[in-house]
Amino acid sequence: MTAQIYEVKVYSPTGELKKVIPIDKVIKHMWTSRGLPTTSYKEGAKVPKVERKCKYCDTLFNPTFKTSLICRSKICKQRHYRLLGAAPLEDKVCPKCKKAFKGVGARVYCNNPCKYTRPRHIKNIREE
Ligand SMILES: [Zn+2]
Ligand SMILES: [Zn+2]
Repeated sequence: MTAQIYEVKVYSPTGELKKVIPIDKVIKHMWTSRGLPTTSYKEGAKVPKVERKCKYCDTLFNPTFKTSLICRSKICKQRHYRLLGAAPLEDKVCPKCKKAFKGVGARVYCNNPCKYTRPRHIKNIREE
């Protein structure tokens, strides 16, 4: 035996037949109510519009997600992902001052002032 869905009759409290919902609309409604993950959607992303201070630049912003801690600035995002370990710190030795330091990928020199002192050959190429 298969379950049958018939048209839905809607009655008023007085017992009066108010309307009849045809079978195709009933099915559509069933699919819609089943398809929407209403509870998890509500619990998930959306948060009340409360301004939050960016973790990095102290700018006030409206977080899109509960977990948003940074504003939409590109600089803060890059900084964030770098700290998350997207680019792991490596042990490096500064070729200028021979100091050991930890840096990401393409970094060659330690902090100031070596960072801003470029090797002569690079400087020459740029000036040409
Ligand atoms: Zn920021
Ligand atoms: Zn150095």
